[in-house]
Amino acid sequence: MAERMLKFVGTSQAMPDKRPAAERRRDFDEIYSNYAREKAAEQAARCSQCGVPFCQIHCPLQNNIPDWLKLTAEGRLEEAYELSAATNNFPEICGRICPQDRLCEGNCVIEKGFDAVTIGSVEKFITDTAWSQGWVKPIRPRRERTESVGIIGAGPAGLAAAEQLRRKGYQVAIYDRYDRVGGLMIYGIPNFKLEKDIVQRREKLLRDSKVTFHLDCEIGRDVSMKELRRRHGAVLIATGVYKARDIAAPGVGLPGIAAALDYLTASNRSGLGDSVPGIESGALHAEGKNVVVVGGGDTAMDCVRTAVRQGAKSVKCLYRRDRANMPGSQREVKHAEEEGVEFVWLSAPQAFLGKDHVSHVRTVRIHLGMPDASGRQAPQEIPNSHTNVEADLVLKALGFDPEDLPEALATPDLGVTRWGTLDIDWRSMMTSLDGVFAAGDIVRGASLVVWAVRDGRDAAERIHTYLAGKAMAAARIAAE
Ligand code: FAD
Ligand code: SF4
Ligand code: SF4
Repeated sequence: MAERMLKFVGTSQAMPDKRPAAERRRDFDEIYSNYAREKAAEQAARCSQCGVPFCQIHCPLQNNIPDWLKLTAEGRLEEAYELSAATNNFPEICGRICPQDRLCEGNCVIEKGFDAVTIGSVEKFITDTAWSQGWVKPIRPRRERTESVGIIGAGPAGLAAAEQLRRKGYQVAIYDRYDRVGGLMIYGIPNFKLEKDIVQRREKLLRDSKVTFHLDCEIGRDVSMKELRRRHGAVLIATGVYKARDIAAPGVGLPGIAAALDYLTASNRSGLGDSVPGIESGALHAEGKNVVVVGGGDTAMDCVRTAVRQGAKSVKCLYRRDRANMPGSQREVKHAEEEGVEFVWLSAPQAFLGKDHVSHVRTVRIHLGMPDASGRQAPQEIPNSHTNVEADLVLKALGFDPEDLPEALATPDLGVTRWGTLDIDWRSMMTSLDGVFAAGDIVRGASLVVWAVRDGRDAAERIHTYLAGKAMAAARIAAE
């Protein structure tokens, strides 16, 4: 092993080639190319094969990272793929969009002094290779079961659960109010981070595995929850969180101020070939405009980088804390800066100015005070520190809260937490309703794709335990 691995001293970290910023500003294609085979092997060989792999501990899926790195270094890619796919339903997606600097790579032991092993890029390389080589095959369960599971939501949590349940032979139907499969992976996350055909080939795989999709179908409106529970032995709620947080400031209702997800969805739909009124009228398009994005998370980063690509005149990101305290990935900030985005740290909107349309954002400087109960320094406004920033399009990216699900699903008995997320028993992943489980953002609050996959997999296990228990009880009664 030692001969092939542990090369981090002599081999520097090398990400796959990144396209120059001037080129990527002009299109919505992904910014990194894939590794060539030799490069992937060389980079995988930098791993020191730790006895206690902190990368694995800090991966929400506990991926067997050291082993698939070793197999990649040895050129045994099909085995590497099988190992990687054993713990992750979408390794090529996580490899692209996980904030690795906060998860696996940020905890790689060689990070201190030698730069982390490029785990995400190798993971993406392994599974992209598997797709191109035809190693990714539809599921053919060893035995079909008669019980069916209804899943509400075709985002990563619902899709991961569907795949795991199908592997066990359950009949799986997914219901989604959107017209396409993928949840935020299709309509939230921009193409330059995750090209849409990567999501769509996963959809095809699930269809080929005999998962049924009911699209344009909103549970609570088109089909009632009662009917869904009647149709299926178990139901999984994986509906995500979509209620955008707003800004309480004068002028916030002016035309030219939009919610981040409306803007990103319009851009993604347009990229997929849909005709989108907001794009056609220009209301949700940044071309030639001074764009101001308010927020410092992943959604804000996606907005600023989309605006650059749409040909904005200027793009500014206002965030009330500083760079070190922003929730978004540092890697994304770097990409945005390279592409020409200006970050205005320690700055918050106080009012939106304009007559018939927004023309300026009145901002105030912020000082970070003493840490509050959560341990984070509390932002405090600095008196008389106002500036008016020119703005033709303002995008509000302040995060998301859950909708009122008990009301939307007309199930008042569905228990929620004080944050509005679904209250589940974490051991069984069941909600307060018998046979109704929940997973993903609707349980955690706005989170990450990798956590949604983890929850979807866990929920599938618990649903299996529940249905198998019910089948055994029914068999016992029949035998009596
Ligand atoms: P979702 O992906 O939200 O899917 C829920 C699905 O349920 C949707 O398709 C919705 O239409 C459907 N639905 C809702 N209600 C109903 C109903 N009543 N009936 C039928 N269907 C319904 N994470 C990362 O890891 N990396 C990133 O780079 C990243 N970037 C992001 C960028 C943006 C702009 C946003 C908004 C999020 C980003 N995230 C990122 C977070 C990530 O997308 C989410 O954590 C993840 O998609 C949650 O998965 P989910 O399956 O729980 O929900
Ligand atoms: Fe890292 Fe995400 Fe892959 Fe886990 S799933 S190894 S955290 S990139
Ligand atoms: Fe390899 Fe880094 Fe993981 Fe150690 S922490 S096993 S060096 S990838």
